[in-house]
Amino acid sequence: MNKPAADPARFRDPLVTLWAFATTVLVRCPSCARRAVVELSQADEPRRARLVCRACGHNAMREDGVYGLGGAVDPCFGLPLWLQTPCRGETLWAFNLEHVELLERYLSARLRERARSPESTWVRNKSLVSRLPTWMKLARHRAEVLRGLGELRRLAAAS
Ligand SMILES: [Zn+2]
Repeated sequence: MNKPAADPARFRDPLVTLWAFATTVLVRCPSCARRAVVELSQADEPRRARLVCRACGHNAMREDGVYGLGGAVDPCFGLPLWLQTPCRGETLWAFNLEHVELLERYLSARLRERARSPESTWVRNKSLVSRLPTWMKLARHRAEVLRGLGELRRLAAAS
């Protein structure tokens, strides 16, 4: 519970990419359909991914790395994400609870700031929040998107 003390109406882009959250991804186990975890090592090259299901003991390893990001699947094994829910005819998804929390902070902030430093080009092009689809960012969708994120939070908390 270490919430930032800053004004919650302000949001400063923390300049993280989606990859920063890909180190721990909650997925649906291909063996028992319960919750499993894909862990992607940051250090090794090629990056090593490990799938572990505590519910049934299923596990798998990939050493040849990564598929790539996109959609409601994990980037290593292509398994369906555990944290996904329909929203506005789209799918709202996240890799893990920290990812949900970042989206909540960003989308509930009334004032979104962009860095006015040399990082600003980087922000425009690469950061996770700068790449969110428009339907998530529209003010008129905000309440529904935040409800969806609440559902993802509930899924993350349930075991
Ligand atoms: Zn399993």
